[in-house]
Amino acid sequence: PHDQWARAREVFASARRVTALTGAGVSTASGIPDFRGPQGMWTRNPESQRLTDISAYVADPEVRTLAWQRRLTHPAWDAVPGSAHRALADLDHAGRLGALITQNIDELHQQSGVDASRIIELHGTLFATICLDCGATGSMHASLARVRDGEGDPPCRACGGILKSRTVSFGESLDPAVLRAAQRAALNCDVFLAAGTSLTVAPAAGLAELSVRAGARLIICNAEPTPYDALATAVLGGALEDVLPALVAEPFDPADAP
Ligand code: NAD
Ligand code: ZN
Repeated sequence: PHDQWARAREVFASARRVTALTGAGVSTASGIPDFRGPQGMWTRNPESQRLTDISAYVADPEVRTLAWQRRLTHPAWDAVPGSAHRALADLDHAGRLGALITQNIDELHQQSGVDASRIIELHGTLFATICLDCGATGSMHASLARVRDGEGDPPCRACGGILKSRTVSFGESLDPAVLRAAQRAALNCDVFLAAGTSLTVAPAAGLAELSVRAGARLIICNAEPTPYDALATAVLGGALEDVLPALVAEPFDPADAP
């Protein structure tokens, strides 16, 4: 509605330091499905949630083999940033993006040209591997090459342990240093922009509340309602591919509001 846009634009126009928190919704237009949206992977196939659970991954070699097959064909490998990613890159180039906290593992924000030093990957990245036994990290493409060559569940070259993508699975905790960086970014902004996230996964979702308690204004852009909408100065529904470019465009033309 119009008053939400007016408030969002007013807040945004005077913002000097924006911290953004993004979720899977910024990447759906790039062909990477989200989990909980109407076309989400879990919405369509609830059973697939089991594959993202760390205890099943550790206990069951079949789960690992299936996980490697999914990684092989993950849509992230040939995805390119869309207009939602580009809008955040524009904000960065305008010098107004303090930090970009993302729950995504697809590296599309990096690809869109946002300064890497400002990106906080709360849930890790799909582009690297980690050994669950010795902690060694490696290149995902190197491991995928081994899978392509016939290894169903390639073990760590260093210790023979279980390899996994360097992403945070359900049942795993976040890297404490990464979480602290995200909390600092939430405390250190005048506008907190949550985009394309259902705000239902802790502790990511709590960052929105943290920023508001520290005095920031919260703007939420998401196609569906979130549990934090009542805390927000403005809530913008609709497709992020249209919403984010219109929000960051300068100067603002009311005719641009989707
Ligand atoms: P989520 O699936 O919980 O929520 C995504 C939200 O985005 C939904 O509410 C949906 O309605 C909304 N949305 C989807 N497309 C949209 C669009 N085009 N315009 C506006 N809104 C849109 O995602 P989440 O909150 O990011 O949490 C999911 C978890 O899964 C994260 O922890 C993340 O690590 C992982 N994940 C990552 C990716 C990725 O890297 N692209 C994809 C799927 C899941
Ligand atoms: Zn190892």
